[in-house]
Amino acid sequence: MSKVEPAELVIIGAGPAGMAAAITSANYGNRVVLLDEQPSPGGQIYRNVTHSTHLRDKILGTDFQHGRALTSKLKQPQIDYRPNAKVWRVDDDGQICYSIEDKATRITGKQIIIATGALERPVPVPGWTLPGAMTAGAVQILLKSSGLLPTQAVLAGAGPLLYLLAAQMIRAGVPPLAIVETQQRRDYISAARYLPVAMGNWPLLGKGLRLLAEIRRAGTPRYTTANNIKITGSSDVQGIQFSSSGKHHEIECNCVLLHQGVVPNTQISRLLRLTHSWHPQQHCFVPNTVAHGKTDNPIFQIAGDGAGISGALAAEHQGKLCALNALQQLGAADQTIIETEQSVTLKQLNREHRARPFLDTLYAPPTEALAPASDTIICRCEEVTAGAIRQQIPKGCTGPNQTKAFSRCGMGPCQGRYCGLTVTEILARENALAHDEVGAYRIRAPIKPVTVSELASLHE
Ligand SMILES: Cc1cc2nc3c(=O)[nH]c(=O)nc-3n(C[C@H](O)[C@H](O)[C@H](O)COP(=O)(O)OP(=O)(O)OC[C@H]3O[C@@H](n4cnc5c(N)ncnc54)[C@H](O)[C@@H]3O)c2cc1C
Repeated sequence: MSKVEPAELVIIGAGPAGMAAAITSANYGNRVVLLDEQPSPGGQIYRNVTHSTHLRDKILGTDFQHGRALTSKLKQPQIDYRPNAKVWRVDDDGQICYSIEDKATRITGKQIIIATGALERPVPVPGWTLPGAMTAGAVQILLKSSGLLPTQAVLAGAGPLLYLLAAQMIRAGVPPLAIVETQQRRDYISAARYLPVAMGNWPLLGKGLRLLAEIRRAGTPRYTTANNIKITGSSDVQGIQFSSSGKHHEIECNCVLLHQGVVPNTQISRLLRLTHSWHPQQHCFVPNTVAHGKTDNPIFQIAGDGAGISGALAAEHQGKLCALNALQQLGAADQTIIETEQSVTLKQLNREHRARPFLDTLYAPPTEALAPASDTIICRCEEVTAGAIRQQIPKGCTGPNQTKAFSRCGMGPCQGRYCGLTVTEILARENALAHDEVGAYRIRAPIKPVTVSELASLHE
């Protein structure tokens, strides 16, 4: 067996949370190893920012360009940034297995910060598996990494990312044919009570209003209060059907970009058997943390969207707070200086959190996306429908690990990352159980596909 590399602090994920944690740690003269499976730092929001062109910067906007301030600070001797490092196993004693270019390696951290961010919530509507149906985030990945965009696309769903992508497409000269918005009048009414607090983060709300104004100026049609969404086509996407304000609509297109917000990526926190709780406003599980990132296991902290969806600026503050916690644990910095920095950062974080309940309530995912009709596929890897999960209930299945054994749902290469929440939601509704009682898939290593030669390379 190859040697295990010892390290003081290891951070998994080089998005805003992981980068801020690494920079904070380095500012105190502490060496840190930063692992990320992407070829360059930035995470989701600042993906490929180090290689972006002037034109792409203009299309993606000023928020994207902010990422460059973070990535430039990674270039310092205290930060050992390792790109293309896919973490596929983490043990509760702090040992991490990761692979770079098919060669597996082990490292162990006295302190570990998990900053693996968010995943887009799956939107299992009829037709979502047809070629041409994608998530809005997937198209943003194409734009950020390769400068590509579809030309005949309809955006459907809810959430700020939908408007951001629409504005980016408009700036790129390929506006969407339409935006189909699923938030209902009742969502606006429920969200209104959080508006006064949300005004405390006026810059964020202002950004949203500017995006809407940009979309309006471009003349992009917006269909509001939409439901009964169906993507049509036999071998690929040919259109989208939906109801809006009581009328049936059909739009011809070759691409539908779906979005219903993002949810924490809990693969590593689940693998570590850390405790999680259902977040009723965000409709997902979040790992239980205290003091801004500390988990049930004193070695591990969680920063950024992986600890609950808060956005990129909040992720940056959380990364900093986790690094300060880690430095405290390692005895690597003066206590008084740490406490002063903690209190300043906490104030900034609290300000970022103010708009969250408003946004979560206004853009709540609709029932048809959370617990779809029985003929809709929910597990893309194994092609299992929502109906196949419902059929397991009379057999006594109350949890996702049982339906997995009976139906293969969640057994494919994504390891249940995409169908997990849908299965929990269906079981909770059908069995009239709380989501916490239903629970989630029991995650086992490897959490990413690993080849036999990668495993064998551990013994070289
Ligand atoms: C597809 C997508 C696009 C988004 N685009 C935007 C946007 O344009 N604007 C915006 O405001 N918000 C956007 N968001 C929301 C945004 O992700 C967050 O608010 C912010 O980036 C969270 O920062 P983070 O550091 O917590 O995580 P992230 O930025 O997601 O960074 C997590 C990092 O962890 C790495 N990682 C994950 N698992 C592993 C593993 N097993 N091994 C190694 N590395 C791993 C990932 O490669 C990634 O670089 C997007 C979200 C998604 C899912």
